[in-house]
Amino acid sequence: EKILSVENISKKYISETNTVVALKNVSFDLFAGEMLSVMGTSGSGKSTLLHVLGALDAPDGGVIRLKGVIQDNIFNEPAASVYRSNTVGFVFQNYNLLKDLTVEENIALPLILQGMEHSVRVKEMLETVGLMKWKKHRPIQLSGGQQQRVAIARALITTPPIVLADEPTGNLDYNTSIEILKFLTLAKDKMKQSIILVTHDPMVAAYADRVLFFHDGEIVDNYACSPFENNT
Ligand code: ADP
Repeated sequence: EKILSVENISKKYISETNTVVALKNVSFDLFAGEMLSVMGTSGSGKSTLLHVLGALDAPDGGVIRLKGVIQDNIFNEPAASVYRSNTVGFVFQNYNLLKDLTVEENIALPLILQGMEHSVRVKEMLETVGLMKWKKHRPIQLSGGQQQRVAIARALITTPPIVLADEPTGNLDYNTSIEILKFLTLAKDKMKQSIILVTHDPMVAAYADRVLFFHDGEIVDNYACSPFENNT
């Protein structure tokens, strides 16, 4: 099943001194249960792409379809907030945890913000990422890998169809990176969630079903790592 279609997305940053083309007619499809990794040199548009797909930043042109339906409103409130809480989960390189909240409060946050019951789900997520014993700790008391596990649990707690991960292993060592990738792989295999993973690391990209290579805001190469059934 095709979850997301990205069609001719373009984005420029214009300042008084210059214009930067961050995305140039970017098009690709994302299927349910697919992990897509995005590679490319610094400045090639990877973060801009994730910001657009997360409705954090509006493109200048192009279309995003969710299950075939054009999302023409997601860059304006209130639709943007609804899209961000129902459709996408975010994972960042720097974890972006709230330092004054405990592990369990950080994980519960998306459900708390939606006014939903959360105790059962938080427990499940704490078990999934192996942090039950740390639930009353604050982020500063945890290792980088543990903090990223909290961030992943927070991103997955609402089971969003799409997970956007921007260099999630960028600050982690090899073994910890593998651990983090295992949780993303589990989400895709068990829940058919789709993952877009920005990374510089070929070892990390190799976990994906497909790799898109960006250069100067364009997709310049597209490599299938696994015989993913929906790859057409
Ligand atoms: P990557 O994530 O691949 O490093 P980015 O998407 O961050 O690339 O950046 C793409 C291009 O857009 C770069 O040339 C960058 O300098 C520029 N850029 C990114 N964000 C902004 C911004 N807020 N204002 C101006 N230029 C930006």
